[in-house]
Amino acid sequence: MMPLTIAIDGPVGAGKSTISDEVARRLGILHLDTGAMYRAVGLCALEEKIDPQDAEKVSALLTEGRAQVDVRYEGGAQITLLNGRDVTGLIRSQEVGQAASTVSRYPAVRKMLVRRQQELAQTQPMLLDGRDIGTVVLKDATVKIYLTASAEARAKRRMLQLREKGDDTPFETVLQEVNARDYQDMHRAVDPLRRAEDAVLVDSSELSFDQTVSAILSLVEAKK
Ligand code: C5P
Repeated sequence: MMPLTIAIDGPVGAGKSTISDEVARRLGILHLDTGAMYRAVGLCALEEKIDPQDAEKVSALLTEGRAQVDVRYEGGAQITLLNGRDVTGLIRSQEVGQAASTVSRYPAVRKMLVRRQQELAQTQPMLLDGRDIGTVVLKDATVKIYLTASAEARAKRRMLQLREKGDDTPFETVLQEVNARDYQDMHRAVDPLRRAEDAVLVDSSELSFDQTVSAILSLVEAKK
């Protein structure tokens, strides 16, 4: 029998990563942050001085085995590896996020990462979060969730995070960035972000962190 799989997709800033971490922890299963794998490819391109817009050169990194992306877990926490090197911290920059968004459009990149994600989810119960988990990676996931919130609510949360880091980018600018990322993720040719027909919509605009976690846990309980 297939192990338990939970698919969480949704737009940027819906709180997918932190919510997914907590839901997986409460269920005692591993959480695979698939965005981290796209970020590792983005980092590889930057380090190799390859323009992320150069589809051919970036794809060659994958097909020639020069960008080997993998994960391992330490005390339940994901460590992201690029050619065996721990890049967990390095992939969190804005620059790498942008590169990830660009390279994630290339079929060669998606094919390689999706295959590895599927292998990982076959061996143990797992929660995967990303953009295409319910629609492509785990079409038969036990539970599929589309986690979203209004663009305004997501921009507000993002702004608060920035303020904590001493960044005072105005709300309007943050909102524009959120809308731009939404557009890019939803309109790309390959595996765009969309809600799977059988995914349950969870709108966290009016929910606290704990309420969102509880809502998802209830959905999982109902399906198990
Ligand atoms: O979620 P995160 O911001 O870390 O993802 C980085 C980039 O990788 C996103 O811009 C998104 O376009 C891409 N991505 C993807 N498919 C996934 C996860 C992330 O295309 N399953």
